[in-house]
Amino acid sequence: MEVLVINCGSSSLKFQLINSDNEKVLAKGLCERIGISGSAITYESVNCEKNTKEIDMPTHNEAITAVISALTAENTGVIKDMSEVGAVGHRVVHGGEYFSKSALVTEDVLEKIEKCNNLAPLHNPANIIGIKACMKIMKDTPNVVVFDTAFHQTMPEEAYLYALPREYYDDYKIRRYGFHGTSHSFVSKRAAAICGKPYNELKTIVCHLGNGASICAVDGGKSVDTSMGLTPLAGVIMGTRSGDIDPGILEVIANHTGKNISEITEILNKKSGVAGLSGVSSDFRDIEKAISEGNENAKSAFDAYVHTVVKFIGAYVAVMNGVDVIAFTAGVGENNGHVRKDVCSHLKYLGIEIDDEANSKRGEEVMISTKESKVKVYVIPTNEELAIARETVEVLA
Ligand code: AMP
Repeated sequence: MEVLVINCGSSSLKFQLINSDNEKVLAKGLCERIGISGSAITYESVNCEKNTKEIDMPTHNEAITAVISALTAENTGVIKDMSEVGAVGHRVVHGGEYFSKSALVTEDVLEKIEKCNNLAPLHNPANIIGIKACMKIMKDTPNVVVFDTAFHQTMPEEAYLYALPREYYDDYKIRRYGFHGTSHSFVSKRAAAICGKPYNELKTIVCHLGNGASICAVDGGKSVDTSMGLTPLAGVIMGTRSGDIDPGILEVIANHTGKNISEITEILNKKSGVAGLSGVSSDFRDIEKAISEGNENAKSAFDAYVHTVVKFIGAYVAVMNGVDVIAFTAGVGENNGHVRKDVCSHLKYLGIEIDDEANSKRGEEVMISTKESKVKVYVIPTNEELAIARETVEVLA
């Protein structure tokens, strides 16, 4: 069956049409500047190269209509009409405590997603707009929601509770939720398949290192701890996000600068991380170039980044009382051999040995540890769209 995967932001909509039988991507693209002047759709398919067309998209309804037109266009399209699409799979960022797995969209499901809006105010409302647009325009097509948080709902209480007055959890549901769950689930399952061990017997640490980054301890197929928290600001240092900091820092910054909580949170989200520390860029390619030119701030940002990744891996080895597999994924994890090498150089105590030649590869599935290494280390490219398509099919089965 053909599954349309939708990842909806407040002014953008990414899509992929995937054949769930052979898992081939038939078409993909992006609608940008929805609701803003100069909106455009970028589209590519098995029948055409990437091209961008300006189309007026005042709301997400016009964006969905533009996606349908592109998918059904005479020469460049890949289907005759939308009846060929068996289901739509939507990425939804926050499912709170309501969702521990993907779900078929119903009124009740939509209401619960709406109740999580305050936990992800930038993302959930946009996700809902995308779902409603699809429901309106493709009336007969089932919609499935796949949550970034769902995979982590298996975390035990001791991993998700913050040591705050208990009523903040009871009344406001302030706790660790974790994100990138679709990726952590996809990669940890793939790791088990590659090493030929049963998923429910394997201890895996997944390092999803992209612009946003999180680390997850997967014990027997279940997320038992993860580095992001109530929000995706927590955990390891990221491209522009600070990751974990002493919470007391907020008041100190406020006293120095006169900024309010929202302004400081914006700085922690957008002006911190390797970008803030290096003063160069959030992009690791720029960081590495700057290091090669002798930029010391870039080098110290790189080292601090590696340090936080190492710390979380160590913590999760302790949490799981061991580890069988470490997997690197996402932009940095898949492409940056220096980060992987530096991280693993701190893991010799686990009996990890890295094969430099294998580690020099980028963007492909490869074992980067030697055959003798006690813990297997892999690079496993993540594929969140494919994972969403698989989940969608599973929910409808
Ligand atoms: P993501 O958020 O997963 O797209 O990851 C973005 C990060 O991945 C950026 O810091 C990039 O430097 C890094 N990245 C993406 N592609 C490459 C590549 N081909 N080579 C090196 N780094 C890359």
